[in-house]
Amino acid sequence: MTRELPGRLVLLGHPVAHSLSPTFQNAALDAAGIPMRYEALDVAPAGLGAMLGLLADARGAGNITIPHKEAAFAWMAKRTALAERVGAINTFWTEDGALVGDNTDVGGFTFAVRRLLERAPEGIRLGMLGAGGAAAAVCAAVEQWADSRVVVHARTRDRAEALAARFPGVVRVAKSEIDTVTGTDLLVNATPLGLEGSLMPIAPGVIPDTCAVLDLTYRRGRTPFVKACRARGLRTDDGLPMLVEQGALAFERWFGTPPDRDAMWRSFRAPETA
Ligand code: NAP
Repeated sequence: MTRELPGRLVLLGHPVAHSLSPTFQNAALDAAGIPMRYEALDVAPAGLGAMLGLLADARGAGNITIPHKEAAFAWMAKRTALAERVGAINTFWTEDGALVGDNTDVGGFTFAVRRLLERAPEGIRLGMLGAGGAAAAVCAAVEQWADSRVVVHARTRDRAEALAARFPGVVRVAKSEIDTVTGTDLLVNATPLGLEGSLMPIAPGVIPDTCAVLDLTYRRGRTPFVKACRARGLRTDDGLPMLVEQGALAFERWFGTPPDRDAMWRSFRAPETA
């Protein structure tokens, strides 16, 4: 390893106590023999700018999660082209005292789709529920795939329309919820439904047998939606592969070397995360 280590490595969110990122990032640090800890910091929205200022002074690096991804965009001195495209930051580091922002959710999502479909994502008709920050990363990913399109439905139609306007040619607004599953290869839940409670983003019974399902939300023991889709025999995964891969890509940005992805996955096999 040739580059200087970050002064601090953090996750900024509100709340963050539930996050699995410290578990697998610290496993990757240990596996690489890097003498640092990855800390989760609960930062209220009003304190985000001040915290990022402190981190710039401390040569900090890390991840940004709910609800700060879009707000953090404005606090970066530089942003990668992909972060500009998504309009949100989930990974940052410091160069010459200035914060640089990137978005590795895009690469994390493409990885999760490849893993689920067991093929390169090309010629995909993707239905999507939700039109927030994660949905924007999905659209930026689909834009990179050949011959692929998104049909988006959101409870706040204006947000779906705004997303379609930002990704013209790739995204259209669904006529109804059912439109997202009609002739669809892959249905994506980009709402937080399932993080807790038993509500589902759509009734699993209306999803065609040939449609795969990727729930970006995850929780211990799987979301109710993933469980119900699996029970129906649909090819289904939750948000964990995307989470781990976005973290692995972030690790590469911070340290210039890929992490031990197996060590990251093994960290979940501890009894408390099974
Ligand atoms: P967000 O920006 O707040 O957007 C959430 C979207 O879901 C919005 O369209 C919102 O609609 C809609 N929504 C919220 N509550 C709803 C409800 N009760 N019923 C129907 N629609 C609802 O959130 P986000 O950052 O995109 O995150 C969405 C989910 O993806 C979260 O669970 C997050 O943990 C997950 N995520 C996972 C990964 C990963 O690596 N696996 C990465 C990023 C995000 P309104 O505009 O009407 O509120």
